[in-house]
Amino acid sequence: MNNILLSVQKINKSFGHSKALTDVSIDVRCGEFVAMLGPSGCGKTTLLRCISGFVTPDNGTISIGGVDITRVAPNRRPLNTVFQNYALFPHMTVLENVSYGPRRAGTPKAEARERAAEALAMVGLGEHGERLPAQMSGGQQQRVALARALVNRPKLLLLDEPLSALDLKLRKRMQIELKQLQEKLGIAFVFVTHDQEEAMAMADRIIVMSGGHVEQIGSGNEIYRKPATRFVADFIGDANFVSCTPAGNGTLRPSLGSEVIEHVQTRGAERFTAILRPEHISLMREEAPGMSMSAGVVEDVIDIGMLSTVLVRVGEQIVTCRRINDQATLTRGDAVKLGFRPRDLHVVEE
Ligand code: ATP
Repeated sequence: MNNILLSVQKINKSFGHSKALTDVSIDVRCGEFVAMLGPSGCGKTTLLRCISGFVTPDNGTISIGGVDITRVAPNRRPLNTVFQNYALFPHMTVLENVSYGPRRAGTPKAEARERAAEALAMVGLGEHGERLPAQMSGGQQQRVALARALVNRPKLLLLDEPLSALDLKLRKRMQIELKQLQEKLGIAFVFVTHDQEEAMAMADRIIVMSGGHVEQIGSGNEIYRKPATRFVADFIGDANFVSCTPAGNGTLRPSLGSEVIEHVQTRGAERFTAILRPEHISLMREEAPGMSMSAGVVEDVIDIGMLSTVLVRVGEQIVTCRRINDQATLTRGDAVKLGFRPRDLHVVEE
């Protein structure tokens, strides 16, 4: 595709004996918002550093706009990075902080200041240029850091957990602001986070990583509804894992529910796991047509206000169900029937 801005092809990176990245390939399109998501130590920062040039991969290639930059120095790459800790100069005013980059690159002072003022206006801080960073709130400092990256008019911005120092409320507000700004400017963002909600709320596509490799790349909707692996299903939201065995004629018999499900095998596996999200299970008194049913006993009810998480024992398995708190209360020991639509079982071949 010709609108690919960043292309990472089969990169590997080891630090001594520990392998941080294994055969990682990703593409980022012009103007796209991509989040890198995964647990601590999965390689997100290493991948971001390979793209920014602070880490050199052992092999593989990285190109931007079709030009190989794998071994190009960080300051010569057509991109900018926003770091977690902002890294603002405390003794310089906000305007000086933002104009520092263009000044170092040789831009005349007046022009650098003009561009800095423009970048500050973009992030809504046009009036604050003469303040020192210490006179700004956490959210404002984050926006200064963003302006400092935007002043260079990059096509690609790398953001390494840029909101993690903010409290939850401010973080949520900045998520919306950042997403709106990204859409307005049309700059591609590669955004590292370990917060799945943040990734879901902001990104066009999410790269889910674990143990140094890519597990799945897709929209938030795709990775939630059609997780490619058990790891992704477990990492994104809550999931029940239902083991299934082949039952002939392109069907599988799940260990939960009364109905077989259709599944076209692609790898000749013997055993399969299906994923069933808690919100797809109804707790019912009677059997309902079209539903796959199981009988169980309530083990525990966790009330979180509007919703309850209900843990139901079905044979050996504890099934996590979720329901809105506008129905009759359930308590431990109640007999219940679980019902779900067979098509809500999503099969993963292992
Ligand atoms: P976190 O969310 O905790 O920041 P991460 O997903 O960004 O984690 P990385 O920082 O990329 O993970 O680290 C991936 C692996 O590589 C880890 O096992 C880490 O210990 C190792 N690693 C990273 N940088 C170095 C280094 N400079 N020297 C040795 N090992 C490193």
